[in-house]
Amino acid sequence: MPGFMPGIHVFIHGMANKDVDGRDKSGHDGGSASMPSFMDLALDHARAAGAAGEVPVGCVIVRDSQVIAAAGNRTLIDRDPTAHAELLAIRAATKAIGSERLTDCDLYVTLEPCAMCTAAISFARIRRLYYGAADPKGGAVEHGVRFFQSRTCHHRPEVYAGIGESQAAALLREFFKERRD
Ligand code: ZN
Repeated sequence: MPGFMPGIHVFIHGMANKDVDGRDKSGHDGGSASMPSFMDLALDHARAAGAAGEVPVGCVIVRDSQVIAAAGNRTLIDRDPTAHAELLAIRAATKAIGSERLTDCDLYVTLEPCAMCTAAISFARIRRLYYGAADPKGGAVEHGVRFFQSRTCHHRPEVYAGIGESQAAALLREFFKERRD
């Protein structure tokens, strides 16, 4: 894929486990730091969701290096248990491009998607999935049903885990700590 976010690829392959400290918010180590990464945008939506009392998860969908949809969790605000960031972003993206298939789209989400969202990602034919923090309790990519590895999964995106992980995990920790205190 010529021209596709070379910075992101460096980040994934070389630095995925090194974002605990030292690097700037963009996900790059210095240099062209003025351009926030797509995961940074997802983190912004996660923060906004958290500020609204929702579980802080955010998602953006990208096509041809352009964000075509973005959302944070809205399950409480919408009184809708399916209003996860990924589902809302998928719905907005299909509307934006006028197709139920997001074949050439990549999805960035701050937390490992759940069973419902992994299925939706598969049905939507998302090309690549990038996610931040792993979710041993509710995730369905590397935990639980591991949907993409199941025989009933008929489209499997390329998966890149641990992108912006430390920030996404810190957001969630803070959120649940505030709930307990
Ligand atoms: Zn979900």
